[in-house]
Amino acid sequence: MELIIDNLTKTYGNGVNALNGISLHVPQGMFGLLGPNGAGKSTLMRTISTLQDASAGSIRLGELDVLKEHDAVRKLLGYLPQEFGVYPRVSAEIMLDHVARLKGISDRKERKIAVEALLQKVNLWEARKRNLGTYSGGMKQRFGIAQALLGNPKLLIVDEPTAGLDPAERNRFYNLLSEIGETTIVILSTHIVEDVQTLCKRFAIICGGEVMYVGTPKEAIQMMEGKVWAKSIPKQDVDTYRAEYRVIATNLSEGMLFIRIASDEDPGNGFAPVKPTLEDVYFRAISEKMDLVTL
Ligand code: ADP
Repeated sequence: MELIIDNLTKTYGNGVNALNGISLHVPQGMFGLLGPNGAGKSTLMRTISTLQDASAGSIRLGELDVLKEHDAVRKLLGYLPQEFGVYPRVSAEIMLDHVARLKGISDRKERKIAVEALLQKVNLWEARKRNLGTYSGGMKQRFGIAQALLGNPKLLIVDEPTAGLDPAERNRFYNLLSEIGETTIVILSTHIVEDVQTLCKRFAIICGGEVMYVGTPKEAIQMMEGKVWAKSIPKQDVDTYRAEYRVIATNLSEGMLFIRIASDEDPGNGFAPVKPTLEDVYFRAISEKMDLVTL
């Protein structure tokens, strides 16, 4: 099964064009959607999840028209939103059983088996009787995934799932998502480049409601080969450099500023070639759209 998004547009009532003609093919596996805040990621996620309408364009999931066949799509869909509340005084086990019932698993035994399997899968079996209010950020996220996976979705959408997780929790979450990606279309929306680098076979960079890049992380880095240059400069000179070059990263160290720029040709002026990273690709792509004062 594939998800095919074609020329999707969304203009909100206040006139904001959140999506400006997004077209994407998303095959099975982990697909990253990388973009800065305000890029339109959540709007896209909510539209794919049948939670809001588009202004124009189409989305197909296999044979289904996502913008019209909401009920049929919801049966194939798992969604982990950016923020989701949990009932703090209910245990994970009871809550999952309840959600399973809501999702139509009416047979008690079947529900028990499904809930147990999911608690094992997300590594919350030992903590299943604890109230959700006592869970850490990472545990809550894994509980959210278990909830989203009830009913065996063919498409799983996760919106900024690693924000606020410590490195160990993030790692555990990465492993869980990779495993799910073996059998499911997983769309991972994030502004964290490392999430995409570690997890995604393919990814898209979106900014200003447009697709700036789509492909594999490896291809993206290869594309930048020979086009990234670096130099240390006195920090007060940064504006001069910004005016002359496409500065894609700055790092302050002991009073000097280490800057990376994107340039197809050797910029001279003491710049040395450096190996491109996925961050370079990302900041190069979004720098075309954004004012980079904050980099
Ligand atoms: P992201 O998830 O990448 O941060 P969003 O989809 O949340 O991006 O936002 C894209 C743009 O649409 C932003 O300019 C945001 O302010 C605007 N926006 C998002 N939701 C609404 C809404 N409900 N009404 C009006 N504007 C919105």
